[in-house]
Amino acid sequence: REPDRYAVFGSPIAHSRSPGIHAGFARVTGENIEYGTVEPPVEGFAPAVRAFLAGGGRGCNVTTPFKLQALAIADEQRPYAATAGAANCLKFEAGRIIAENFDGTGLVNDIQRNLGYDIAGRRVLLLGAGGAVRGAILPFLEARPTRLAVANRSADEARLLQSAFARHGALDASGLDDIEGAPFDLVVNATSASLFGELPAIPVRLFHDRTLAYELVYGRGLTPFMAFARESGAGRTVDGVGMLVEQAAEAFGWWRGVRPETGSVIQSLRASLPQILET
Ligand code: NDP
Repeated sequence: REPDRYAVFGSPIAHSRSPGIHAGFARVTGENIEYGTVEPPVEGFAPAVRAFLAGGGRGCNVTTPFKLQALAIADEQRPYAATAGAANCLKFEAGRIIAENFDGTGLVNDIQRNLGYDIAGRRVLLLGAGGAVRGAILPFLEARPTRLAVANRSADEARLLQSAFARHGALDASGLDDIEGAPFDLVVNATSASLFGELPAIPVRLFHDRTLAYELVYGRGLTPFMAFARESGAGRTVDGVGMLVEQAAEAFGWWRGVRPETGSVIQSLRASLPQILET
């Protein structure tokens, strides 16, 4: 039998780790799938998805810069995608397109299941106010922290999220220089600063000696945020490899009805990336 076809859509996409991750899941579950990459022209996302669907594709992941468009072309929006205002996963069912967003679930699962860090009862700070933070807020609220704060370089963007999510739960919002209630038990860097080798302008006193400092970026070794967190006394620093694999596992489970075990895939992906020494 021919394998069922999936792909990740993005631009640029050549260096995506998703094909390798899904090939790993297919191996551990025995599912017969093929998973490729598609790089549509910036204005050509919707036709490219429709062509993939018409050619027998069963679903796709979506990454930068198409996550907003992915939500817009869907016939049905699942709650995480709808509240995030963006989709990172599409499923094709009887010619209809269903949109989901597993970025936030992947992040929360990595923190709770893989790192063994229960979010309930903790004080949590999310840095940034872009797509990754929008996708993370609902799964974080569901994990019941005592406090959830969003701080962004442009404070207005954080305040917009505070009102957008008001009906789901309480959210503190601020700029980076007026964050209240520090230190936090968990600090998540969901800005893209590390992609530019930059450190968000955050104060030292965000961390205590059991703080988990989580960096969304992966594959760049020790980022400025991770180094700063360590110097400022954070108990543990990790990068976003686990999040990437966990959101992929959620997608795979949604498409195939089988949730793959992620440990071995995280391990081999980590081994292929620049190493970060534990302190
Ligand atoms: P967006 O472009 O939507 O948002 C970027 C955010 O970063 C904005 O809040 C912006 O603030 C802030 N920012 C950018 N540069 C700086 C800086 N120098 N100092 C302070 N703040 C800064 O990006 P996404 O939300 O989609 O992604 C965020 C990061 O998460 C990316 O690096 C991405 O690679 C990573 N990611 C990782 C995933 C994983 O699986 N591990 C999944 C998804 C994302 P402002 O509003 O002020 O401009």
